[in-house]
Amino acid sequence: PKYVYEFTEGNKDLKDLLGGKGANLAEMTNLGLPVPPGFTITTEACQHYLEHGEVPDGMNAEIDEKLAALETQMGKRLGQPDNPLLVSVRSGAKFSMPGMMETVLNIGLNDESVHGLAKQSGDERFAWDSYRRLIQMFGKTVQDIPGELFDDAIEAVKHKRGISSDLELRAEDYKELVQTFKDIVLEKTERDFPADPREQMQLAIKAVFDSWNAPRAVLYRRQERIPTDLGTAVNVCSMVFGNMGMDSGTGVAFTRDPASGQQGIYGDYLQNAQGEDVVDGSRNTVPLADMERIDPKSYGELIAIMEKLENHYRDLCDIEFTVERGKLWMLQTRVGKRTAAAAFRIADQLLDQELITLDEAVTRVTGDQLAQLMFPRFDETAPRHRLGRGMNASPGAAVGKAVFDSYTAIKWSRSGEDVILCRRETNPDDLDGMIAASGILTSRGGKTSHAAVVARGMGKTCVCGAEELDIDTKNRRLVAPSGKVIEEGDVISIDGTSGEVFLGEVPVVSSPVVRYFEGEIDPASDQADDLVRAVDRIMHYVDAARRLYVRANADTPEDAQRARRMGAQGIGLCRTEHMFLGDRRSLVERLILADTEKEQHEALAALLPLQREDFVGIFDAMDGLPVTVRLLDPPLHEFLPDVTELSVRVAVAESRGEKHENDLRLLQAVHRLHEQNPMLGLRGVRLGLVVPGLFTMQVRAIAQAAAERIQAGGRPRPEIMIPLVGTVQELEIIRAESLEVLREVGEQYGVELDFPIGTMIELPRAALTAGQIAENAEFFSFGTNDLTQTVWGFSRDDVEASFFSAYLEKGVFGISPFESLDIAGVGRLIKIAVEEGRAARPDIKLGICGEHGGDPASVRFFHSAGLDYVSCSPFRVPVARLEAGRAAA
Ligand code: ADP
Ligand code: MG
Ligand code: MG
Repeated sequence: PKYVYEFTEGNKDLKDLLGGKGANLAEMTNLGLPVPPGFTITTEACQHYLEHGEVPDGMNAEIDEKLAALETQMGKRLGQPDNPLLVSVRSGAKFSMPGMMETVLNIGLNDESVHGLAKQSGDERFAWDSYRRLIQMFGKTVQDIPGELFDDAIEAVKHKRGISSDLELRAEDYKELVQTFKDIVLEKTERDFPADPREQMQLAIKAVFDSWNAPRAVLYRRQERIPTDLGTAVNVCSMVFGNMGMDSGTGVAFTRDPASGQQGIYGDYLQNAQGEDVVDGSRNTVPLADMERIDPKSYGELIAIMEKLENHYRDLCDIEFTVERGKLWMLQTRVGKRTAAAAFRIADQLLDQELITLDEAVTRVTGDQLAQLMFPRFDETAPRHRLGRGMNASPGAAVGKAVFDSYTAIKWSRSGEDVILCRRETNPDDLDGMIAASGILTSRGGKTSHAAVVARGMGKTCVCGAEELDIDTKNRRLVAPSGKVIEEGDVISIDGTSGEVFLGEVPVVSSPVVRYFEGEIDPASDQADDLVRAVDRIMHYVDAARRLYVRANADTPEDAQRARRMGAQGIGLCRTEHMFLGDRRSLVERLILADTEKEQHEALAALLPLQREDFVGIFDAMDGLPVTVRLLDPPLHEFLPDVTELSVRVAVAESRGEKHENDLRLLQAVHRLHEQNPMLGLRGVRLGLVVPGLFTMQVRAIAQAAAERIQAGGRPRPEIMIPLVGTVQELEIIRAESLEVLREVGEQYGVELDFPIGTMIELPRAALTAGQIAENAEFFSFGTNDLTQTVWGFSRDDVEASFFSAYLEKGVFGISPFESLDIAGVGRLIKIAVEEGRAARPDIKLGICGEHGGDPASVRFFHSAGLDYVSCSPFRVPVARLEAGRAAA
């Protein structure tokens, strides 16, 4: 194969072979832009080197040949003593990667050619500055010499001379530095700095190859799931000099503002400078627009080139350029990174300019970017006092009075106060407090702790695992590492996007994008800014393009209404467990404590009307759209009081010689129902099978509520979902009972109640026997949270705190499988179940509920796996709509 390509031989589509930098240098060359000539050594050469430990046969001969051609073109030889050609050796993989070797400039200089360069340029200072830069960069990146040694030497000279700026260094100083640097190299490598230009080049090329396996690069690839065998390309580019005086300089430019997306002239310029000087902050740059005054001719050319590049790439480009004595050179371009807001605005502008189509526009924005735009944020210009930092568990900005228990959270919020619920960690008992609070702060647990998961589901701001904050719920206070004490009622601000916690109130700005989704901003009105209009335009397109329906997970009429406004086409998961909490807890206790069938029956009968009212509200809010109601899922003991609290109560009563019959029985029940491993215990369909009447009561409540709605002229569309099924026999029994209840209630009310009955697929066995299960299920909903737990064999609440951080650090996961679906494992089971379920029942409806339904990468997978819908929290519905459309486009 061919291992070396001249810039004239490549193009922008050859990124695999030439790397990003090389492919774009070639593209610019072919566009006729002023690129210093050079060539690119391919990633294939690198792959060969990495595999065999030596460069492939013929590569060096090809380099010699291309170098000779370059020398002829430039009219000088590499390192030629009286008139040297100098080159840079630049790494350039397909993806830019931290930890990869940087660039070595000025290759070709040595003790002789430095004089030639001085004579040719008529600038001795420039020549010696260039030479010391070569030794410094070569030493650092090729020879692994600590950079501080060189930096310290420069500082020492400046100190000796009593100057503070590099600009004041004279030719003599640089000569002295070259000698010092050569001494450093000799001492550290036990050999002289290589004087032979071709050897300099060869060593630099190999160093670039080797840097592919630098530890930081390896880790980065593992986390970003970049294949390990791509290798990097190497660009050899003839040098141009921005450090030849004040009529020279170097700069960076963007064709649009990468922060806001606005059109305009953005960038920085620095006179008399080379390479990284412009970005490393050691000298003050001027705004690009000032270049118009400094060098109008080069500036005019640059602006024309920027326009040409944008029209050619049809996207925001960022650019590196250098001016050598009034002549402009292009050194790099690529499609530039941008903020979320800029991504939407730029896509919209390019549509207006008819540079891209809507199909392309949706490739320019992502669900993650839309999600970022939906969170309120703290005003960046406001002063702030940071108390500490935890994990950014659920984004957003929340301000309120610190409270340390759910009861106070509810009480205070009812009287109109904003509160931040501060707990060491949360559990299902805190749910009402979490709903009441503006934000949640915990000192324990990670991004998959109860607090984080529930908060994300509610779209509520949460900072979790802020271990440096001592949250003392007994004494109702929080102590920051600084010693600052926050008492109950003191105002704090938490930033769920950064994980920071602040003292007092930091002003919040709300998201116009959310107000648009909520219907508060009409995109056609003056209220809408260009960002809202851009989002609106894209959303219209993706809604028409997508095949997947998007539903929401919602348990209350309020959530259901919100979900509808956000564009949900139904409810994919309506959990019923919260309907057993709060005031109703005593009824559940009665059910659990019931000794006789009669008592049990009474307890259920008391719950029935309450459940019915819950469903009436939800069916009303979702009238005409499907609502998948999941029958009770969690283990019963979750509804009983805490064992320690209860034991204390019983003990205290006993010491007083009193006897609380009920507490005693409760305590026995707690012990009886205690499970070592509740996640794998008595829950889901298992409860329905062993607690007589429980599931039929729920089905009756659903049926009655639907019947009432029908009689009131509504169109309720409940779907009854049985959780945690492992075998078709479980489903068969519950299904038969449920059908019987539907028939009975239908008869009573004189209406037809023909609702689908289906199951969750959340156990590996269910997925593997999906064909059998489908015989008794009209729909499957993949419960990817439990499915992930059972496929991996770890419990979400336990593992994050103990080892997920270690796994993420070691690169075992790029991302937690609870956040983004594990496609290789869990995804494979889903595919099997889809295939076998459809084979057994061709019209089976297939969906997914669980957090993955709102995760962009997972949504793409669900589209390709052929599901009918995804269901996610109301707040994520727009994100899922966007990703579903992107997947289909
Ligand atoms: P990075 O990927 O870190 O940007 P580059 O290879 O682009 O690395 O080079 C680092 C710096 O050196 C950039 O400012 C670039 O513009 C400059 N540079 C690279 N090659 C040359 C060259 N042949 N002449 C002048 N400057 C160069
Ligand atoms: Mg660069
Ligand atoms: Mg489940």
